[in-house]
Amino acid sequence: MSAVACLDLEGVLVPEIWINVAQRTGIDALMATTRDVADYSQLMRQRLDICEANGLGIGDITEVIAELRPLDGAGDFLDWLREKSQVVILSDTFYEFAQPLMRQLGFPTLFCHRLKIDEGGKITGFELRMPDQKREAVRALKRLNFRTVAAGDSYNDITMLGEADAGILFCPPENVVKEFPQFPVTGDYTGLRAAFEEVL
Ligand SMILES: [Mg+2]
Repeated sequence: MSAVACLDLEGVLVPEIWINVAQRTGIDALMATTRDVADYSQLMRQRLDICEANGLGIGDITEVIAELRPLDGAGDFLDWLREKSQVVILSDTFYEFAQPLMRQLGFPTLFCHRLKIDEGGKITGFELRMPDQKREAVRALKRLNFRTVAAGDSYNDITMLGEADAGILFCPPENVVKEFPQFPVTGDYTGLRAAFEEVL
């Protein structure tokens, strides 16, 4: 059966975008991630409030993101995987943020969310395309009679990994490994390739 590989983006192919924005702008309050605030909408509202308070518009943020590079070896891994199966990146980021990084990866297919931006470049809000979109995407692909293999690094990937025919953790934090022992854990792209080869 044809397979589709579903990959998380941040922590798997590219660095954590907000942590880098926090470091490069010096705004420590932007360091919070889904590990600190479990509700993603609440976390995003918090981030946008901080951006507004610091006068950060979309231009300032994409300027920072444009300096980021995919993780070492990510491009080669993705090229390898795309020869073996179809690949979809399922991410909770926003197209407006991901663009500079996707350009460096040759614009693979990306399903994520959209920001609302006014004429002045201020981010006024965001639109999550649907709840639990990673899992829903895997479910839809299965309905289309694809075999699915998913890889991710953190809590927001777990429903996707569970829904897929095979789920793989990549460089996850220790607490995720402990909480979800049912998924094989890989620590580098060599290991991730081997894990995909086993199930594709
Ligand atoms: Mg991630």
